[in-house]
Amino acid sequence: MHVVVLGAGILGVSSAWYLRQEGYQVTVVDRQPGPALETSYANGGQLSVGHVEPWASLETLPQLWRWGFREEAPVLFRPRLDWAQWSWGLRFFRECSPTRHHRNLQALLNLGRYSRSTQQALRRDTGIAFQAADHGILNLYASRADWERGARAAAEITRLGYPRHRLTWEQALALEPALEATQAHWSGATYTPGDGSGDAHLWTEALSLKCQENGVVFRFGQTVQGLEMQGGQVAGVCLKEDALPLAADAVVVALGSYSPLLLRPLGIRIPVYPVKGYSATVPLRQPGAAPSISITDDASKMVFTRLGDTLRIAGTAEFAGYDTSLNPVRCNALVSRARTLFPDAAHYDRPTFWSGLRPATPSNCPLIGRTRIPNLFLNTGHGTLGWTLGCGSGKALADLVSGRTPAVDFSFSGP
Ligand SMILES: Cc1cc2nc3c(=O)[nH]c(=O)nc-3n(C[C@H](O)[C@H](O)[C@H](O)COP(=O)(O)OP(=O)(O)OC[C@H]3O[C@@H](n4cnc5c(N)ncnc54)[C@H](O)[C@@H]3O)c2cc1C
Repeated sequence: MHVVVLGAGILGVSSAWYLRQEGYQVTVVDRQPGPALETSYANGGQLSVGHVEPWASLETLPQLWRWGFREEAPVLFRPRLDWAQWSWGLRFFRECSPTRHHRNLQALLNLGRYSRSTQQALRRDTGIAFQAADHGILNLYASRADWERGARAAAEITRLGYPRHRLTWEQALALEPALEATQAHWSGATYTPGDGSGDAHLWTEALSLKCQENGVVFRFGQTVQGLEMQGGQVAGVCLKEDALPLAADAVVVALGSYSPLLLRPLGIRIPVYPVKGYSATVPLRQPGAAPSISITDDASKMVFTRLGDTLRIAGTAEFAGYDTSLNPVRCNALVSRARTLFPDAAHYDRPTFWSGLRPATPSNCPLIGRTRIPNLFLNTGHGTLGWTLGCGSGKALADLVSGRTPAVDFSFSGP
């Protein structure tokens, strides 16, 4: 059976790996010249199972409203005459109810834990090096009220079986001495020892090479234009560069934020909307002054992750359609916040800026599974968590294609 995977980001490549392990003939198609060159390229690097709280909650709504329309705020909403944007917003409000929030949190935590152990097994089996650090993740809170909120979230995650501890500022400093030089005021922290970090691009590139060694075919530089249907099933994939469709027995859509555009002509509407984020990567100047634990600054919603001899600063969420242009105000906000936290750590005058479109769903839960077309599958909509959830989602998808129930309690998509 020939399975064609559309997209060579984290989700497409991990799907291809596990599908090949099942014995399928697998082809991956991507418009870029290599794997992980769009949203999976320069993200925050966090493998953050303990931080899967969905954005949609009654607690975050007032904060989102305060930020919503300010140019330099962590979350920015640019209203457009775009039905997809507004219907996504309405669904987001619905997901804020306590019942839905709790259900989404539990589902994401299940998938996150499964993904972490799946990735660790794959690391052991393949020896892939990706500047991994298994030192946990430290969340910092500026105000006492925010710290209390963070501690409540930590207690809830711990109660659900994944330890996340409340720390005083002194305890946080003892854990991460690079914070000694910080010029910001902090009230306290939470710490998730089981989390980690690593370079998603390096991982995906290396995994795609392992896929190729195992017989997966990659067709880079090919743009998917549509799907050819026959008798209610997908028969092939239409590529811009080829006159004839690429024949397929099954197709997996892992096109990130572009997934809804391919599916819409088939009458399949999925609530995935692009949410733009930015990162800055700066070379280290004094490695001892840079954090070795990945840090989340709750006030600015930025993350700081050491990747080899660089510091990656990532964050901000902009609801502005498919625009990937770099806004200088938002770029500079990343560098200036990093300078405040770790003044001597890096050459802040030499940043490499990047932006990517998170494929976000209103519930934060990804769409993994079969569509109403029997041989058309989804592995998309991972939003802020694609790196964290990537391996587990790929393995679960391969199970679903094979007709098995995945070994994780998650509400997979079905017809
Ligand atoms: C600033 C930022 C920080 C982040 N930080 C983290 C983090 O710390 N931890 C975490 O877990 N997640 C993080 N994420 C989220 C994570 O990066 C994404 O969820 C993940 O990369 C999505 O992967 P994907 O494979 O679904 O999409 P993509 O990586 O975008 O892959 C989709 C692929 O489809 C291809 N494609 C699209 N359309 C076509 C077409 N028509 N024809 C052919 N090919 C096509 C693209 O070229 C692309 O390679 C962050 C995201 C951003 C933006």
